Amino acid sequence: MRYVSTRGRAEVRDFAGVLLAGLAEDGGLFVPEEWPQFAPPDWRALRGLEYGELAARVIHPFIGAAIPAETLRCLCREAYAQFYHPAIAPLRQIETSLFALELFHGPTLAFKDMAMQLLGRLFDYVLREHDWRITVVGATSGDTGSAALEAFAGRDRIDIAILHPYGRVSEVQRRQMTTVAAPNVANIAIEGTFDDCQDLVKAMFADAPFRQEMRLAAVNSINWARVVAQIPYYAYAALALGAPDREVSFSVPTGNFGNVLAAWVARRMGLPVARLIVGSNRNDILFRFLQSNDMSVRDVEPSLSPSMDIQVSSNFERLLFELLCRNAEATDAAIAGFRKAGRMVVPEPVWDRARTLFHGFRLNDTETAEEMRRVYQASGYLADPHTAIGIAAGRALSVKPVPTIAAATAHPTKFPDAVRRATGVTPKLPPHLGGLLEAEECYVVLRNDLAAVQEEVRRLARRIQ
Ligand SMILES: *Cc1c(COP(=O)(O)O)cnc(C)c1O
Repeated sequence: MRYVSTRGRAEVRDFAGVLLAGLAEDGGLFVPEEWPQFAPPDWRALRGLEYGELAARVIHPFIGAAIPAETLRCLCREAYAQFYHPAIAPLRQIETSLFALELFHGPTLAFKDMAMQLLGRLFDYVLREHDWRITVVGATSGDTGSAALEAFAGRDRIDIAILHPYGRVSEVQRRQMTTVAAPNVANIAIEGTFDDCQDLVKAMFADAPFRQEMRLAAVNSINWARVVAQIPYYAYAALALGAPDREVSFSVPTGNFGNVLAAWVARRMGLPVARLIVGSNRNDILFRFLQSNDMSVRDVEPSLSPSMDIQVSSNFERLLFELLCRNAEATDAAIAGFRKAGRMVVPEPVWDRARTLFHGFRLNDTETAEEMRRVYQASGYLADPHTAIGIAAGRALSVKPVPTIAAATAHPTKFPDAVRRATGVTPKLPPHLGGLLEAEECYVVLRNDLAAVQEEVRRLARRIQ
């Protein structure tokens, strides 16, 4: 499988090249040259497979010759052996036609583990093959960072620096990052928002000499391998409810648009999906876009669901590229204009296409807490604030009798205060996270300043050599 950049001015690469590169050198995002297709019998052949086995088969066409099929199966099996539920991604029924797909049974209790545990192993394999080492830099609004640190700490060929917005992640989220003690790890708290952190990461990649010196690699959802590793669970859940002989809808609480993009890819590959529902919190740029073609950046406001406190959803560029019929020049111009003006109005036919592909829904914090309470009272199910947005959006925009599957993206114990206030129940940390609240933290706080951050990353790389 070969990959092209959404901006059309980067070298075509294979999967290993895309994995290592992260962002393309023209600032665009890599997408496959074509979408693999699964016919109904291909989907049916996946029924009843263990999650790791199913993942390997769904992912294989995206990897092609870059990793032997048997190796990929081993990597997938190992990645999902780290999970604390035998089904890996269990489906829980909440209402007659509404299900929660629990993606939070990995080491850090959020859905990012589903991709990151595999990503760590893919990197290991490819770096060994190429006799190479890298520095991973990433921005996190909470969950990506801990999942990445958990997947990369202590690995021989990788240093990892994670930027998070100072004071804007929950205590559990922060501690899951800052208590990872390994010499190849740097935690950097930035005085700013998540978008500031993401911009700093993009700026480090845009600085070609620095990028080469540090051999930078990305693990935030601009890395195509992340998206790929999120496709299998949509197939897994749909198959469990009767696909491909029955349609399902998916409702996904959304920040950087990576998770719901993976659901879109599953549909693009031939999985029968009725609706793709995009849930937002008060940071509702995607909702406004789908509602009224108003893609305009506002200030990021903190909410009950911090992992969705994002205005510029980086993966949207991949969708835009498709909406513009894979016209890289038009994509480049649209994104450049958006960056400059802070707003984008896409041509009417393009917007219409977007609205037929996705349905948007938005909840403020009060509504999110109400939803958490309602779900708990009706079914005894404890949903974290992100999951609650997915469930509420799924209920509001479902089409009967198609079952709707809401992505449950974080374990309720990651947001104990919000859960307690909404339901009166204090969720307990699972045993494998015992000690988290006492462990020593290690991180630096820096201004929103590129040079200072680059200096810290250099220091990390020197620490190892
Ligand atoms: C990252 C995250 C999201 C948003 O996912 P995107 O792929 O960025 O859209 C939602 N919920 C939780 C708990 C997350 O960690």
